[in-house]
Amino acid sequence: MKRIVKAYDVVIAGGGLAGLCCGIAAAREGASVALVHDRPMLGGNASSEIRMHICGADHHGSRPNARETGILEEILLEHKHRNPQTSWMIFDSILWEKAAFQEGLDLYLNTHVAKVAAEKLEQDADGYDRQIQSITALQLTTEKEFEFHADLFVDATGDAFVGAEAGADVVIGRESRDQLGEADALDEADEFTMGNSLMFKARDTGKEVPFIKPFWADSYTEEDMRHRPITEISSGYWWIELGGGVQRVIEDGEAIRDDLLKAVWGVWNYIKNSRTDEGTLRFPEAATYELEWVGFLPGKRESRRILGDYILREEDCLDLHPDPETGEMIGTRFADTVAYGGWPVDVHTIEGFRKLGKEPNRTKLMEDVYAIPFRCYYSRNVKNLMMAGRDISASHLAFASSRVMATCAIGGQAVGTAAAMAVQHQISPRALGQTMIHELQQKLILRDCYLPSIPFEADEAKRPAKITASSYVPGHEPEKVIDPWSRTIGSRHHDWQTATPAAEEAPWLELEWDKPQLITKIQILFDSDLSKQLTPSLSEYQLAKEYPGTPPTLVKDFQVTLFSGETELNTVNISENYQRHCEIELPKPIQADRLRLTIHQTHGTTQPRVFAVRLIK
Ligand SMILES: Cc1cc2nc3c(=O)[nH]c(=O)nc-3n(C[C@H](O)[C@H](O)[C@H](O)COP(=O)(O)OP(=O)(O)OC[C@H]3O[C@@H](n4cnc5c(N)ncnc54)[C@H](O)[C@@H]3O)c2cc1C
Repeated sequence: MKRIVKAYDVVIAGGGLAGLCCGIAAAREGASVALVHDRPMLGGNASSEIRMHICGADHHGSRPNARETGILEEILLEHKHRNPQTSWMIFDSILWEKAAFQEGLDLYLNTHVAKVAAEKLEQDADGYDRQIQSITALQLTTEKEFEFHADLFVDATGDAFVGAEAGADVVIGRESRDQLGEADALDEADEFTMGNSLMFKARDTGKEVPFIKPFWADSYTEEDMRHRPITEISSGYWWIELGGGVQRVIEDGEAIRDDLLKAVWGVWNYIKNSRTDEGTLRFPEAATYELEWVGFLPGKRESRRILGDYILREEDCLDLHPDPETGEMIGTRFADTVAYGGWPVDVHTIEGFRKLGKEPNRTKLMEDVYAIPFRCYYSRNVKNLMMAGRDISASHLAFASSRVMATCAIGGQAVGTAAAMAVQHQISPRALGQTMIHELQQKLILRDCYLPSIPFEADEAKRPAKITASSYVPGHEPEKVIDPWSRTIGSRHHDWQTATPAAEEAPWLELEWDKPQLITKIQILFDSDLSKQLTPSLSEYQLAKEYPGTPPTLVKDFQVTLFSGETELNTVNISENYQRHCEIELPKPIQADRLRLTIHQTHGTTQPRVFAVRLIK
């Protein structure tokens, strides 16, 4: 094997959605980044190898205006534009493209992080006792062994492999009530976790297709399936879940995979061939269906978690507190909020599919989204280690909510941004959290990340003196494009929305300044309808809830014109836009005292909305 030594600012292990968004964010922030991923395609559980739909705080579109934005939104809108037919292969290619063509990021696919070299620190002013020196990764496709050095390492492996090998404080399993004071925790802690699952997809061939059960497939009866209804025959089922009890998800992963295959094929046999007491087929509609795809790589739900300076608890996810400003009851907030969640606390039965007499899960819904603090995203004892994804610092119960992929992705973006800043300022993640959290939060908001209860602080010197528009809907006044929020929050609107314009009339919005502004870049945030989910899915039921392509609320063709007095200085025309977050960079800075945004066409709506128009650097 050829040994190659590489040095980067940031090295990320694991290319699930958390690692991918982390890598893109760090590279866009100017860091040199290696994204080291053991599979041929990115996306982890959302890749075509596993095919889980990406869920988040909107809870399958049931919580209005809650969808995650930032890099994940950019990816999913690209996907909606290019892949309305939801081919998983196209989704894979979009994830690959985002990493492979990202300046500053080197992508290492089929590269398995196998060893971590760490040293003990005697004394450290920031309170750390260990530090990673390098990680070694094997790329067997090219017979290479890479030794990666970096200022900061990010563990986005899901399994916290890097953290565990580096000697980070890690946990696995379920806490006891007295450990973190969680009301729903157990009397006694244990090491049990949720299990792994394999998914399948079936298609209607339009003619009868037999299914011959292989000798190794399991058999199931109606009684076995009492708590696991067959709701869709064309895809399934997260509850075909094994491991986490006697069989350990990591150590016994290969045996669990074999058992899952027996279970999936047994369930498919139940769907295709089982009969009622009267002798008729139980699912006659399945007669024309055949298996199109069955996963061979189990999706992993839960394993180790790395402890940070804060451990997110179930109460942080569920409790409500009065908003100091409005008195409204809102979810938990932190001074160092960098991400948020909103998926229910969704706890699965240990050894799921072996416990057929029990419900496969229990869920607790929260009324509002909850914030996740920066302290959950870096190791409390390894100086140069951060984490992104399902291995962040959370209890088993809080993890039951924070593990979903959209929550992992926005956390990943926060970690990548923070990692680049920490490297640039040569400080540890802990020191960054203590001294630069405000800068980090404002950077994230400028990259269109939503941080609950953390407002955008605009540069007062750039504040327009006057904002006017061709028309507006009451409650959606033009001035809202410069308020500190860029989504609807509860009943409060933060957008300018035009009244339906007369035919041939193009709605416009104008920002005017008392003094000329030196303009280099203009940011515009349109409306991508944050109330609808936007994910690839195996489930026809879930896909039917989505727009088939680009959300009709989005603006397609628009124009930005800069003026000095009545003199037109520059006009930029953008056509075929399908993103919420648009940035227009001028070829050279222009002094202007008036900016006009004109909307020429949308993807469907006659009353487009704009959440922000900002001058940025
Ligand atoms: C069956 C199932 C159903 C689920 N349902 C949903 C759902 O509907 N919606 C939802 O949002 N979430 C769902 N989840 C949870 C969610 O998929 C995970 O919590 C999420 O994928 C975690 O994201 P991640 O980026 O941390 O990890 P992953 O998606 O697991 O990505 C981590 C990646 O790191 C790679 N890796 C691991 N070790 C190494 C190494 N040593 N070197 C290099 N690379 C490595 C892995 O191959 C993996 O691809 C489900 C999980 C399972 C298992």
